[in-house]
Amino acid sequence: MSARINAVTGMNDILPIATKNNPVTTARWQAVEKILRQLMHQYGYCEIRLPIVENTPLFKRAIGEVTDIVEKEMYTFDDKGGHSLTLRPEGTAGCVRACLEHGLTYNQTQRLWYTGAMFRHERPQKGRYRQFHQFGVETFGMTGADIEAELILMTARLWQLLGLTDVVSLELNSLGEKESRQAYRAALIRYLEQHVEQLDDDSKRRLHTNPLRVLDSKDPKVQAVLVNAPQLFDYLDEESRTHQQKLTAVLDAAGVSYTLNPRLVRGLDYYNKTVFEWVTTALGSQGTVCAGGRYDGLVTQLGGQATPAVGFAIGLERLVLLIDTLQQDKISTETDIYLVADENAVSQALLVAETLRNTLTKYRILTHCGGGSFKSQMKKADKTGAIIALILGQDEIAQQTVTVKWLQKGEQVTLPQTELSDYLHSTLGASA
Ligand code: ATP
Ligand code: MG
Repeated sequence: MSARINAVTGMNDILPIATKNNPVTTARWQAVEKILRQLMHQYGYCEIRLPIVENTPLFKRAIGEVTDIVEKEMYTFDDKGGHSLTLRPEGTAGCVRACLEHGLTYNQTQRLWYTGAMFRHERPQKGRYRQFHQFGVETFGMTGADIEAELILMTARLWQLLGLTDVVSLELNSLGEKESRQAYRAALIRYLEQHVEQLDDDSKRRLHTNPLRVLDSKDPKVQAVLVNAPQLFDYLDEESRTHQQKLTAVLDAAGVSYTLNPRLVRGLDYYNKTVFEWVTTALGSQGTVCAGGRYDGLVTQLGGQATPAVGFAIGLERLVLLIDTLQQDKISTETDIYLVADENAVSQALLVAETLRNTLTKYRILTHCGGGSFKSQMKKADKTGAIIALILGQDEIAQQTVTVKWLQKGEQVTLPQTELSDYLHSTLGASA
């Protein structure tokens, strides 16, 4: 036997059944994806589908050279033509690129959503992988706190739909505008310079290039230094303050509670004014389920006309893991109707199944394939959890009938094949 080739470290299969390493089933993913699509429909957002690979400079320019992602986490390679390409580490940059390329933000507003795989070369652990999936929303052309409020209300509704309201909480901050950040930056550098010996290597390096990022550090020593650091809020410009008040007023009126967290700066370079995260304590240290904010400067940074923008991204692995941790109820993937047939009747069974699928559109109908005795076929039917086995044996074929066996009740009835569809309709209920 040849040696087996396994998946790439940190890149997971999502399976129909739960295993120790892959606890969340495809059925769970699909249930969440269905709710997300429904939610987007309700809010009038449109889907955009973007390539998984982009030109490397897009991410360098959008995300910023002095960020974890660009410094350490990107999957970058030269293609056969010698072009540097990168597997997308996030969705916003590609979304803005596509909007500019196709004129989607020219003189109009946009409310868009996307979902798909993202790639970051990180140390794999629970809730942190090298291939992971995000569901993201990006809006363009709206400057006010109103659109930010809409995005937050939308996510709050999502938690409600998913039964997560009690386990997630909202953290908010304002990064202000460029001038106020500049003043704050200078103050923060002055403060950190006095404590430079307590900073980890990353933070030391960032002290002069990107000091706000130091606030993001997870190093406990750095965290300790930050306790007494100057706070961005004290440097915030008047406009950003009013903007934040408008946002919190809507949240207050809607009954969405939040914590103002002055240390929330987000991992990426492109944010201004409002930033927010939905966090949970139920997943260990990978607690951020959803993160977003305003990024008014990004469109010009990528070569477009000045266009205000706000968006968020949800880490779907963390989301489904959270739901799975809380809800132990299995989502049913069981078959509803299982067709068992004599070996001469297999093709007839396939045709009966086709006919049933025309009218019983909501049911899962499986035709036994691969032969075997009647007894082993019935065993299979039981194992799939089917409600009904439809039997096409020799007698049934001779008389153009079919036997309907109710597997849980143990009752059975034989009827003409022409009456089968009506019989199932009336007995299985109106949902058929
Ligand atoms: P973190 O601080 O956890 O590294 P981040 O700031 O790098 O997160 P973003 O770039 O804002 O994350 O991505 C948005 C969301 O995508 C995160 O809040 C998280 O839920 C999810 N996410 C980010 N990186 C990963 C990863 N490597 N594996 C799984 N999910 C991830
Ligand atoms: Mg990260």
